[in-house]
Amino acid sequence: MRNLDTGPTIVIGAGLAGLTAAWRLAREGMEVIVVEAEERVGGRAYTAREGWTDGQYTDYGGELVDADYRALIAVCEQVGVELTQPIAYAMPEDDDLSTVEGYLRVGTFVIQGEVLDRASCLAAGRLIRSAAEAHPPTQGEIVEQWILRARLAPREAGIVRSVARMLCQLDPWDCDVHFVFGKPSAGFRRIVGGTQRLAEALADGLDVRLGDPVARVHRYGGVAVETESGASYRGSRVVCATGPYAMAQIGFDPPMVEEKISTVQSLLPAMGGKVIAQYAEGDAIRERFREVVYTDDAFNACWVTMHEATSGPAIVTSFVTGQARHLLGDDDASLARLDELVGQVVDGPVTRLRGEVKNWWADPIAMGVTVTPYDPARPAIAGTLSAMERRTHMAGDYTEGGMAGTLEAAVRSGHRVADEILRTPQRFHIDDINERLARA
Ligand SMILES: Cc1cc2nc3c(=O)[nH]c(=O)nc-3n(C[C@H](O)[C@H](O)[C@H](O)COP(=O)(O)OP(=O)(O)OC[C@H]3O[C@@H](n4cnc5c(N)ncnc54)[C@H](O)[C@@H]3O)c2cc1C
Repeated sequence: MRNLDTGPTIVIGAGLAGLTAAWRLAREGMEVIVVEAEERVGGRAYTAREGWTDGQYTDYGGELVDADYRALIAVCEQVGVELTQPIAYAMPEDDDLSTVEGYLRVGTFVIQGEVLDRASCLAAGRLIRSAAEAHPPTQGEIVEQWILRARLAPREAGIVRSVARMLCQLDPWDCDVHFVFGKPSAGFRRIVGGTQRLAEALADGLDVRLGDPVARVHRYGGVAVETESGASYRGSRVVCATGPYAMAQIGFDPPMVEEKISTVQSLLPAMGGKVIAQYAEGDAIRERFREVVYTDDAFNACWVTMHEATSGPAIVTSFVTGQARHLLGDDDASLARLDELVGQVVDGPVTRLRGEVKNWWADPIAMGVTVTPYDPARPAIAGTLSAMERRTHMAGDYTEGGMAGTLEAAVRSGHRVADEILRTPQRFHIDDINERLARA
């Protein structure tokens, strides 16, 4: 029968969200074209594989896979991508009042320039717990406001700030308490070979056009997607899977609905990047960095990437975000500061073999790390952002509620969009329908 919704689905963006949607649709036999601005797939799933000693690699973007990333873990299984064993970055107990208590049992904390020993960490955990008992946080309270209301001493305040910053990449005056009073992680895994491997596996066999940013999307009748190079793709519908900031750099005709634009504009941007270095003192670093090192310094957290490497040098990855992100403008200063911190934690000088700074904030396409919506408002925000209009489906980590800003949210959004498209009733020519009925 003549399907009146002819033309492929055009997916803009080959990050995990766009690729999950495209992979699902292609598996159902639908025609899909993915148009990607960069010369590679993956977006913020970006693995740096070249030039590290001992064939090691690291992730410039998303890497930690939480135990409840069910959609991502399932997709990894389906496309044959392996995950490492989980590492417990926290040791939560049933009666904990805050996530921080679990992190204090295993993590390393460098607060006010000092590496805290385990006894100090446990003592701080008890003080934070008493503060939470005496001053229970209210839903949606800002972390910094709770710190002040609960009168935390400088050491405990530094600890709470460092954990909050690690979990959302925002400053403590920008994020709400659910990050430090929510459910602790049961253990993080990584994708063996780096996160980009999942993107590459999803893209395998798909029609992906690399290196050509989309400039305009015309949405009259069907859709026509026009790129900066002048290429044009006609389709029956479009999936916009560009990430939150990149989406604002595409001209939609007719424009997106005002509600969606105002919601995007109201999101809290998590800005910054990673400072990454490989050191010769691998064993000492693995020993001290097995779990996350949290700081109240410019680095909000650091850890050893590639946790399947058990010998040789070690790559340390650190996050610099929020107000401290200006440090990323100076590669030498950022790396020297990381050397200093790593040396302090391992208690000896370290030899840097290679260093890299990935400033997502200055990345002309991604333009930021992610967005982290205020928790109580998430369902409404996700509802508005994910809504389909004028044959435009929205995918991306920022369009999902509970897990916004994560690899899991990206994969879930891709599944949601694929479901939307697969469930759309198909329209057939009335003559064909009559003919079919007559034959029946
Ligand atoms: C430093 C950092 C650390 C992180 N750590 C973690 C972590 O440990 N765990 C976790 O769960 N999450 C983490 N994240 C978040 C995670 O990486 C993202 O949530 C996820 O990768 C987003 O996927 P996406 O497909 O929604 O968007 P993206 O990966 O941004 O994909 C969007 C794609 O669209 C393309 N694009 C943009 N504009 C255009 C255009 N005009 N035309 C065509 N293509 C375009 C982009 O090039 C990109 O490929 C981290 C992110 C960063 C940056």
